[in-house]
Amino acid sequence: KPVIILVIGMAGTGKTTFMHRLVCHTQASNMRGYVLNLDPAVMTLPFGANIDIRDTVRYKEVMKEYGLGPNGGILTSLNLFSTKFDEVISVIERRADQLDYVLVDTPGQIEIFTWSASGAIITEAFASTFPTVVAYVIDTPRSTSPVTFMSNMLYACSILYKTRLPLVLTFNKVDVAKHEFALEWMEDFEAFQTALDSDSSYTSTFTRSLSLVLDEFYKNLRSVGVSAVSGAGVNAFFEAIEASAKEYMESYRADLDKRI
Ligand code: GDP
Ligand code: MG
Repeated sequence: KPVIILVIGMAGTGKTTFMHRLVCHTQASNMRGYVLNLDPAVMTLPFGANIDIRDTVRYKEVMKEYGLGPNGGILTSLNLFSTKFDEVISVIERRADQLDYVLVDTPGQIEIFTWSASGAIITEAFASTFPTVVAYVIDTPRSTSPVTFMSNMLYACSILYKTRLPLVLTFNKVDVAKHEFALEWMEDFEAFQTALDSDSSYTSTFTRSLSLVLDEFYKNLRSVGVSAVSGAGVNAFFEAIEASAKEYMESYRADLDKRI
C-alpha cells in the first residue's frame, strides 16, 4: 500500500514548492508517486497533479454563486470536493499495488484544512485506508525567535492531537537559515530557556511552563531540515516518512482496528 504524505503548513512556508521537490525526487529515484492538489485557489502549479481539485470545483464560481469572500470560497470548494472523496480513495485503491507514495498539497490557509469538517473527512478517509503521515512544514528563517518558534510548535501539537497521525516536523528553507537552533531547543530545555532570557520582549513564566510541556511532545516527533529550493534534506525526509509509516502501522492502525 502507498504511504499518504499530507503536506500541511502555514501560508508561505513553502508547501507547494516542497511538493514540487518531492515530485521531482520520486521521479528521479524510481519511487512511484501519485500527486493530489487540494488547493482550489492556486493559480499555477509547478508540478503535474494526477488529481486536482480545480478540475472538479471552480473556486471563483463558487465565490460568486454563494456570495462568498476568498476564504469562504476555498472552504466551500473543499466541502464540495469532500463529498466525493470516496471516489478519490477508490481511484488510489485501484492503483495501490503500483504506488509507493501519494503526495497531497493542501490549501494555502492552514486552518481551512486543519479546522474544517471537510479537512477532517479527507484526513480520516485517507487514514482509515492507507498509512498516512503529516509533513508539517515550517518556515525556518521566520521561526528563529523563541516566541515564534513556540507558537509554531503549539500549532504542530494541535495538529498532532487533532489528526492523531504520525507527524514529521519539516523545517523548510534551510538554504536561508539552518534549523540546528530548533533541534537544540527541542533537545535541550535549558538552551531554550536561555534563548527566552535574551528575548526581553517576552519573559512570561507561562512560556517557560509551556516549554516543559512541549518537551514531552517533542519526544513523539521526527524533525528534518529541508530546502524545497535546493533539495537539501530530501533523503532524510523520506527516511522520516518511512519510520512514521511504520509507527502508523504499529500504533494508529492497531488503535483503529480496536475501535472498529
Ligand atoms: P505555500 O503557500 O506553503 O504553498 O508556499 P509556496 O510554495 O508558494 O512558497 C512561498 C514562498 O517561499 C515562495 O516565494 C517560494 O519561492 C519560497 N520558498 C519555498 N521553499 C523555499 C526554500 O526551500 N528556500 C527558499 N529560499 N525559499 C523557498
Ligand atoms: Mg501552496
